[in-house]
Amino acid sequence: MGWNDFASCKALFERYQIPMTQIQYEQFCEFQRLMTAESERQNVSAVNDPDEIWVRHFLDSAYLYHHVRKTQPHSFLDLGTGGGFPGIPISILFPDLSVTLLDSEERKLEYCTKVIWALGLQTQCLCGRAEELSKSPQYREQFDFAASRAVANGSMLCELALPFLKIGGTFAAFKGSGYDPKIERFFEASAALEADEPIVEDYRLEGVDKHLILISKSRSTPLQYPRRYAKMKRSPL
Ligand code: SAH
Repeated sequence: MGWNDFASCKALFERYQIPMTQIQYEQFCEFQRLMTAESERQNVSAVNDPDEIWVRHFLDSAYLYHHVRKTQPHSFLDLGTGGGFPGIPISILFPDLSVTLLDSEERKLEYCTKVIWALGLQTQCLCGRAEELSKSPQYREQFDFAASRAVANGSMLCELALPFLKIGGTFAAFKGSGYDPKIERFFEASAALEADEPIVEDYRLEGVDKHLILISKSRSTPLQYPRRYAKMKRSPL
């Protein structure tokens, strides 16, 4: 492959109608260097090959570009950001968007902060458990857009993410080729949480089947949600 120059990386993104400037390319390159260096200290990703990072992390996260552009949010929450996905790529592509990276692990957010500084982004970090933070009026129903990749099953994701969304907001969950609606329960959970019916977008990214589950919220989330984490896990909506 060899995504090691601007022209080929730009062409890779353009195959999916995602524009990238030279400055954004350089930010992605710096992110890739920091990610490779960090992987010697802590496990930020199972994927460490630079070419793989471009496809499986950068392009994969950047695929959300179309939905962000369409919905024009002012605030964006990445729930369970880990090593910064999809939040950091989205922050690179939308420098004026207010992006918040949420994770319960302080070490991961310390690393994300390093990346944010090195790349000159305005991204914010929020440390804590999603199910606790969304109970606070400071965060409940405060975001226009929420996204989550590789964090939990659909039912738990809905319960964790939807309370953060303003009315009129959108939640996007990334799912890979193993997506099974019966196991994930996005439809059942969004109904219980009084959100709109999910829209499933199936696509292929460099030969791999992917799914984005998109849920709009047109009514307030009932206050009894989210329940405690153990309860969410034990009795999924
Ligand atoms: N989104 C990243 C990381 C996935 S790993 C990626 O796609 O690569 C899942 C991350 O979610 C972990 O860092 C974990 O700490 C965080 N997480 C899981 N449940 C959470 C919760 N309830 N509240 C906050 N963070 C959570």
